[in-house]
Amino acid sequence: MAGSRPRRGAGFAAGTLLTAGALSAMPGCGGETAVSTAEIATVDIEPGEMLLVGVDDGASFTATARDADGFFVAGTARWSIDNAAVATISEAGFVSATAAGTATVTATIGGVSATAQLEVFVPARINDYRPGQSYYGRRDYVEYIPGELPVILSSSHGGAMTPREIPDRTYGVVRNDTNSLELTMAMRQALIDLTGRAPHVINSHLHRSKLDANREIVEAAQDNPYAEQAWEEFHDWIKVARATVAADYGKGMYVDIHGHGHDIDRLELGYLLTPEELNRPDNALNSLAVVAETSIRDLGRTSPIPFSHLLRGSTSLGGLFAEEGVPSVPSPAAPGPGDAPYFRGGYNTREYGSFRDAEVISGIQIEHHYGGVRDTPDNRHAYAARAARVIRGFMLEHYGFFEQPFAVRGVLLSNLPKYRGPTDAILPSRRPETRGRSRQRPRAGARTPQRPRADGRHSGAGHRSELRAAALGRAGNG
Ligand SMILES: [Zn+2]
Repeated sequence: MAGSRPRRGAGFAAGTLLTAGALSAMPGCGGETAVSTAEIATVDIEPGEMLLVGVDDGASFTATARDADGFFVAGTARWSIDNAAVATISEAGFVSATAAGTATVTATIGGVSATAQLEVFVPARINDYRPGQSYYGRRDYVEYIPGELPVILSSSHGGAMTPREIPDRTYGVVRNDTNSLELTMAMRQALIDLTGRAPHVINSHLHRSKLDANREIVEAAQDNPYAEQAWEEFHDWIKVARATVAADYGKGMYVDIHGHGHDIDRLELGYLLTPEELNRPDNALNSLAVVAETSIRDLGRTSPIPFSHLLRGSTSLGGLFAEEGVPSVPSPAAPGPGDAPYFRGGYNTREYGSFRDAEVISGIQIEHHYGGVRDTPDNRHAYAARAARVIRGFMLEHYGFFEQPFAVRGVLLSNLPKYRGPTDAILPSRRPETRGRSRQRPRAGARTPQRPRADGRHSGAGHRSELRAAALGRAGNG
């Protein structure tokens, strides 16, 4: 891509110097053909790296020429591709994928050329996910281990991979939740040991400096196509797991596993309620309006016990963790976080819990403190056994799962086929059904840098605490 990087500085300079008269000569403004008639010095091609997913995918490259002073020079690009087996390219720069592989795309204007990298990734088609087997996406960044229980675990912030093809993220939190992936896998094993069946597990193996899988795609992947693909895989596989649990059981639990660096050593159980809401008395929480704001909305609507008990009574997750000797908030001993920093649940909890009407999987974010819980293999093992008993106890109490015999919609679990999920499930593509962000390929004009949004999910106090914890070398955040 030598010579192909966007020269934003030059572009701004040109814009500043242009007079009204000159503007009328801009391509597309006055119908004239050139801003500058000087010789072309550089050609920019956008995007510099393109990833197409599947053989029916296609997208456009664009090329622009500038003179030595950074002024645009009109001209039509000639396009070529060095590996016609991978994709074809039109006269307008539109590439159509034909097979998996990589290629170099070249644009030439007035004898000056620029190149961009193209990759066509073709996901394996999977018709039958096998519980216990690991499935990986592109370059093994994301892993899905299908399960049989109505329980889904995910690890967003514990990956170790730092591939050079993905630049470090430039805003948002980039520090990992230390050992949270190992903790997730320990919890998986503990659930197998306890129940004889496995939960579904989705892991991001990318370090958080490369992908934050617990954010929307813009902040998560920061415009890098390879990080975006990993994000799509991670979230599509949670959707696959969720659809499987919903189809098999009609309801279930999603648990997003994290580590926090706050001062108080206790689990932070996130149901999307704010600290202010949790600091209120029980009777203020016992309303359908409050239930509807949470990621356990489905459970809250169908449970016969007051919602405050479901959140922090003796049979709540916090109550059951207390029985296991693990402090947490909210819980009977700590109904609300008070003034202390507290993570209430992030993107994944909101997306994959039952925050929206008609969703049947309840979602909870568990933020783990470090010492005694996730610091050593022995402590992870011991904690995971406790957490497995808590999850089992919670589901027995509130879902009726794990009763003996274990019946699902009238069918004994032991009689259920191992897997009855989508018959035409495929590895994640880049085209999920619905997504807030347009999945159109980026165009040159659309690649404006995205700024971080104010993020209501993590309070300012929490963020400062994260920074403090990071400074102290304590492990993990959000
Ligand atoms: Zn985290």
